Amino acid sequence: MVATGTTADAIGRAADALRANIRDVPDFPSPGVIFKDITPVLASPSAFATVVDAIAAVAAAHGATLIAGIEARGFLLAAPAAYQIGAGVVPIRKQGKLPGATIAQSYDLEYGSATLEVHADAFGTGERVLIVDDVLATGGTATAAAALVERAGATPLGLVVLLELTFLPGRARVAPLSVDAVLAVD
Ligand code: AMP
Repeated sequence: MVATGTTADAIGRAADALRANIRDVPDFPSPGVIFKDITPVLASPSAFATVVDAIAAVAAAHGATLIAGIEARGFLLAAPAAYQIGAGVVPIRKQGKLPGATIAQSYDLEYGSATLEVHADAFGTGERVLIVDDVLATGGTATAAAALVERAGATPLGLVVLLELTFLPGRARVAPLSVDAVLAVD
């Protein structure tokens, strides 16, 4: 649990930590893209703790019993936040990585398509599932993740991300799924 303060306070502290620690990498992975690199956030004990606290606060406010992390950076955020609130973790993985029976969801990228998978039996009756990733950009990834949660029999509570790129229509694309973004980037 978050020791002190409200969810809004926790998000405010995390936003400050992100402003100070996110690294912009121009032209990665392709020309024209400014990649939001969270590795300095992860490497800073105080920034990492602050952003995990914020995700945990959001998850606790939702009453989440499971946090679904999207491969790969979502894993790094979902696991410590879930541990903090006594929730479980479900990995949403790229195609071909999960060993059991899976459900797959494909979505369009700028060039081509991608596929995410979840274990078909990942969500028991009554589980409350929050989805976590690092960045909400066009929303294709999060929309596919939400579809997987639903097709696996659960209702996603919402999506929490560190950064929302507000010059892209991600939030509209994932609607009606609610989005909690620690920091909006325009
Ligand atoms: P999208 O499906 O367009 O919302 O893209 C979201 C996924 O791609 C997330 O898993 C992010 O990790 C990654 N991503 C997209 N754009 C960026 C960016 N500018 N910087 C860092 N990661 C990004």
